[in-house]
Amino acid sequence: MLQTSSSELTESQALALTRHHRALARRLALSAAALVLVVVPVYQLQELFLIDRIADLCRYHLGWRALPMMVALVALVWCSWHKDGFGAPWLLRALALSVMAMIFGLFAVHWITDCNDIERMVRGLIICTFAVTLFSLKGARELIIFFGAPFLVLLVFLQTGGHSVLAVIGTLFDPLTMFIVALIASEVLYRTWLAAFIANQQLAEHAATDPLTGLSNRRHIEPQLQGETARALRHRATFSLLMADLDHFKRVNDQYGHDAGDEVLREVARRIRSMLRTEDRPARWGGEEFLVLLTDTSAEQAEVVAEKIRKAIADTPIEVNGQSVDMTISIGVAQHQGEDDPLDLIRRADQALYRAKDTGRNRVCTDHG
Ligand code: GH3
Ligand code: MG
Ligand code: MG
Repeated sequence: MLQTSSSELTESQALALTRHHRALARRLALSAAALVLVVVPVYQLQELFLIDRIADLCRYHLGWRALPMMVALVALVWCSWHKDGFGAPWLLRALALSVMAMIFGLFAVHWITDCNDIERMVRGLIICTFAVTLFSLKGARELIIFFGAPFLVLLVFLQTGGHSVLAVIGTLFDPLTMFIVALIASEVLYRTWLAAFIANQQLAEHAATDPLTGLSNRRHIEPQLQGETARALRHRATFSLLMADLDHFKRVNDQYGHDAGDEVLREVARRIRSMLRTEDRPARWGGEEFLVLLTDTSAEQAEVVAEKIRKAIADTPIEVNGQSVDMTISIGVAQHQGEDDPLDLIRRADQALYRAKDTGRNRVCTDHG
């Protein structure tokens, strides 16, 4: 089933959503900042040169227009610096708020000075309300708080300034209608975007996961192994591989049936995962073979982990359909060395595994290169 609420997301989906949201907010903040830095000064210049106005009024205008221009400058510099989008959602909100503050400020100046230009201001308010509302990446809920509040403040402000409520409401009727239209549009956009994002995410997870054990599958772990090898070469870091294979697993299938064999595989996967750190990456390599990628781990440290896994499986029989199945596992260990490519490393871990099988199974052997 497709999930549409961010509270229903799994941990990895939520993390991916935050990353995606930041990247999107960064791109939007950059474009919005560039737009503000072009449009706002152009309107100020137009007022100065083309419209016959008193100098004081223009100065008031400059004050209100300086606010979004400053925020836009900060957003441009910050977002160019932080390529990962750190802080971008907040800058986008600040940008949207400053544009709204500018337009409400200008509106109030016009209203107070009674300069008969209300129609033009209302048009500006409509355009800004609509544009800024669509900047939202979080749907209607956030917008009501962010922009509903300024509308209310303006209403109270104008009303206490002696203007009749009906006149104020009459003037703000179009911008308010546009606000509601934009709220609905942004909510629909947000939900569509979120649903599409989660569907993609679920597809990607599905393609990367072994359905029986829930571990990564071979197709997913292979590029990670490539990446880890490149990282090790570049940063002179190291990592190790465990290649594990259940002992005499065919007998389990023969004796208890294929379904029981599946249950044993699930339990073995659970036990392997429970012995690892969060940054370690276990995968189902084949039928009853498991591979574990241990980042920043030497062969000696990897042997300790392998031994813990071996004991976790050998020491406690696995309960399947009310029967106890004794299981053991053999594990080969290899540490990435020098110019090893992924295939070299897998070959070395495999050799260590064969040695563990040859020398009696239920043991850990290491290939020292
Ligand atoms: P060894 O100690 O030499 O590894 O013995 P083994 O019996 O484990 O050896 P082998 O690798 O030949 O057998 C693996 C068996 O695992 C064969 C296959 O039927 C079984 N198997 C592979 N994938 C699955 C699976 O998804 N579910 C079940 N139930 N069995 C599987
Ligand atoms: Mg086996
Ligand atoms: Mg095997």
